[in-house]
Amino acid sequence: MHTITIVFILALFCSLFIQLWLIKRNITHVHAHRSRVPDAFSDKIELNEHQKAADYTTVKLNFSIIELIFSSLLLVAWTIGGGLQILDHYIAQFGLDSPWNGVVVFLGLFLVMGIIDLPFGLYRTFKIEEQFGFNKSTLSIFLIDSVKQTVLMLVIATPLIALVLWLMETAGQYWWLHVWLVWMSFSLLMMWAYPAFIAPIFNKFKELDDKELKETINQLLSRCGFSNNGIYVMDGSKRSSHGNAYFSGMGNNKRIVFFDTLLESLNAKEIEAVLAHELGHFKHKHIIKQIIIMAVMSLIGLALLGWLMQFTPFYTALGVDSPSTYMALILFLLVSPVFSIYLQPIMAYFSRKHEFEADNYAAQQSDAKTLVKALVKLYKENANTLTPDPLYSAFHDSHPPASVRIANLISQK
Ligand SMILES: [Zn+2]
Repeated sequence: MHTITIVFILALFCSLFIQLWLIKRNITHVHAHRSRVPDAFSDKIELNEHQKAADYTTVKLNFSIIELIFSSLLLVAWTIGGGLQILDHYIAQFGLDSPWNGVVVFLGLFLVMGIIDLPFGLYRTFKIEEQFGFNKSTLSIFLIDSVKQTVLMLVIATPLIALVLWLMETAGQYWWLHVWLVWMSFSLLMMWAYPAFIAPIFNKFKELDDKELKETINQLLSRCGFSNNGIYVMDGSKRSSHGNAYFSGMGNNKRIVFFDTLLESLNAKEIEAVLAHELGHFKHKHIIKQIIIMAVMSLIGLALLGWLMQFTPFYTALGVDSPSTYMALILFLLVSPVFSIYLQPIMAYFSRKHEFEADNYAAQQSDAKTLVKALVKLYKENANTLTPDPLYSAFHDSHPPASVRIANLISQK
């Protein structure tokens, strides 16, 4: 067995072990705190609501164990199990020219992966979400979504992959710099295009028409020095009763989006506080910081691929007998998460730091106590656990645990 094969199997085993161990810890922790609402929430959340959150969390975690083990086995099947090789040989029969042969291999892989993933998505939506009363989707909405996603993927991914593969083959030794520029431009274009062109394919957006709420929001926006590019309400209730709010887009395409479910559960002041938090992300330039981190990481990744793909064992040790540019890219995309998982806690740490900054901003511009009220309502309605395992949370969570977050807000003046 080649060293690369051994390193890959060991790394896969380590990453799987760490993730399963953290999930187990979290299940145990949530279960241990199931019988009592934490003191900080005892007057705001009922015991049955707390227990629903614990059960919902546990069911989701148990399912993620199955998904993790299955996806690890699948990764082995695609690589050293010879799956990619079979796909490659099958598509080679059609005798397509470069880069189209590679593009079809990519699309074939996406398609097979999508089909394998379908039962998991169905189970999540129609079993787990249904069981806890969150699912509002129907089988036809679900299937239409899948078809739309597939068509969108074909339309967007085909030219992008073709361009990337063409550059890899023709741009010389420093192809990865060219590909990086393409990738960054593409990412920025998508961020800009998403709110206006992609999101409306799946949801209806209408301008907020509640006059009083609009007035409250406009005052907040001018207080914080933001121009109003449009406040939209999205029909999130079409698929799920989970509520949310987000900021999206870039430049003149910037939008504030509220799920209709969120507007139903929060009052005007609470919505203002939630929005102030979102504005905090903008004020602190969190989105730009994330783009910079993504840019640096993708540049390092591509340079690494540029170096790795010169070595034949990189392919053969991972189950592909004939080296090609597209296989180099596919292998890298499939295998690198096994090694890059250790960046996850670092990314999560910075994300939580940003959440604190946004909360503190909201406390200044709006009101900390109102934001606490809004958050508690959201924790309750989304059945988020209040008692995650600290280690699991440190590794995975983009938001601070409920108790830490509320304590920080209460300490604000
Ligand atoms: Zn946030």
